[in-house]
Amino acid sequence: MSEEKAKRLTIYNTLSRTKEPFEPLHSPFVGMYVCGPTVYNDIHLGNCRTFISFDMIYRYLLHLGYKVRYVRNITDAGHLEGDRDEGDDKFAKRAKLEQLEPMEIVQKYTLGFHEVLALFNTLPPSIEPTATGHIIEQIEMIKKIITEGFSYETNGSVYFDVQKYGKKYDYGQLTNRKPEELLEGTRELGGQDEKRGRLDFALWIKAKPETLMQWPSPWGWGFPGWHIECSAMSTKYLGTTFDIHGGGMDLQATHHTNEIAQSKACNHTSPAKYWMHTNMLTVNGVRMSKTAGNGFLPRELFSGDHPLLERGYSPMTVRFFMAQSHYRSTLDFSNEALQAAEKGYKKLMESLSVLEKLSPSAASSVDIAELQEKCYAAMNDDFNSPILIAHLFDGVRIINSVNDKKETLTASGLETLKELMHTFIFDVLGLRDESKSMGGSDVTEGLMKLIIDIRKSARENKDWSTSDKIRDELKAIGIEIKDTKEGVEWRI
Ligand code: AMP
Ligand code: ZN
Repeated sequence: MSEEKAKRLTIYNTLSRTKEPFEPLHSPFVGMYVCGPTVYNDIHLGNCRTFISFDMIYRYLLHLGYKVRYVRNITDAGHLEGDRDEGDDKFAKRAKLEQLEPMEIVQKYTLGFHEVLALFNTLPPSIEPTATGHIIEQIEMIKKIITEGFSYETNGSVYFDVQKYGKKYDYGQLTNRKPEELLEGTRELGGQDEKRGRLDFALWIKAKPETLMQWPSPWGWGFPGWHIECSAMSTKYLGTTFDIHGGGMDLQATHHTNEIAQSKACNHTSPAKYWMHTNMLTVNGVRMSKTAGNGFLPRELFSGDHPLLERGYSPMTVRFFMAQSHYRSTLDFSNEALQAAEKGYKKLMESLSVLEKLSPSAASSVDIAELQEKCYAAMNDDFNSPILIAHLFDGVRIINSVNDKKETLTASGLETLKELMHTFIFDVLGLRDESKSMGGSDVTEGLMKLIIDIRKSARENKDWSTSDKIRDELKAIGIEIKDTKEGVEWRI
């Protein structure tokens, strides 16, 4: 592994609220757990931002040579509408609405989630465990938390005792909040409540006769609370303490705070060394979510079929748009920003074709090693992708200057530049060249050659209507052809 470069990696740790040098517990092995989707409906672009950000983080760790076990769960049970065990079961509600079995809902939206993430060119995690597949592990963990004295059973449900936990540990550690502040926003308990304290949360919830997904447990038939699944599955696959735990910022105050509490109560240790949180994708400053009505689906984004969209944008345009902002900054969606990203992405891809054609000179007039260093420095600074992209555009300027004979590069300078551009654009940022990959490279190339030849014959025969028809109809399906001095060029 690239020891020297890996040594300089710093990560912003939500727990300490500082950037810390990344020192894995068992280098070169890295354990990373990211909270996955709740698969009761289609994922929206906001969710995608979080998973794409962690994909870039995963890719950079792999590039540095770490052997990463990346665990990203699928929440397929036990998620009520409110974070604090309130409201209906999301899966049961959806199953009724679509007149399907809850597990059909799970299957349908898990497949949809995988399809979307594949379009965005994200790498699959090493393990993708499901909550329903780990009921036994969750029950075992709850039993241990009861034995340790941090939870209580009431009428077939089990609750975590936050007040008791707070006497030994700091419950508000992750959000840097005091108990009084944490109580703000929670409702007073009524006489009907089974919980002893307002901050207490469910580890196990007693099933009603009509509950569709329920399992037997020492406390009767029921289902697990949402937070316990991540504690049980991260412990099972990564151990009681592992390196990185991540998710969207909205998970920090409740879900992750409760995960820490459960793990400390059960295993007497904090689950993760580094806590990483991605910021939200917003529309006009409002967080993108289904409930706000501004959470459009990736397929609507690609087709342009949504009132917020002026037209469609390709998956790589969107991925590039996301990489242009740091994962800890909010990112506001707009058509203008996506159109600018589309231009930037195309410019980057076009520069790679130019780079292939450059000829070496006897001496270099620019220092490519320095540029390479700057790219690593950007990523080592808490995965600063916008700064990395700025350096990659310095690379584009160099490519164009060499092409215009204003700068020169030796053969080895050209090699380093190629390696640098390819590594950071494809391996680290996770982009792909859509003009090459859409439709299956060789077949597309072959068909385009055939069409261009037919058009050429038509033009030689002065059959302008056929030639124009070919150009216009290709344009209508998103393929542009251009007549240049060197011949006909095309791009998707
Ligand atoms: P969910 O399926 O609702 O549990 O969300 C899956 C992931 O998407 C979680 O890590 C959330 O924090 C994240 N997420 C939800 N909304 C947004 C948003 N608008 N921007 C970025 N991430 C989000
Ligand atoms: Zn989780």
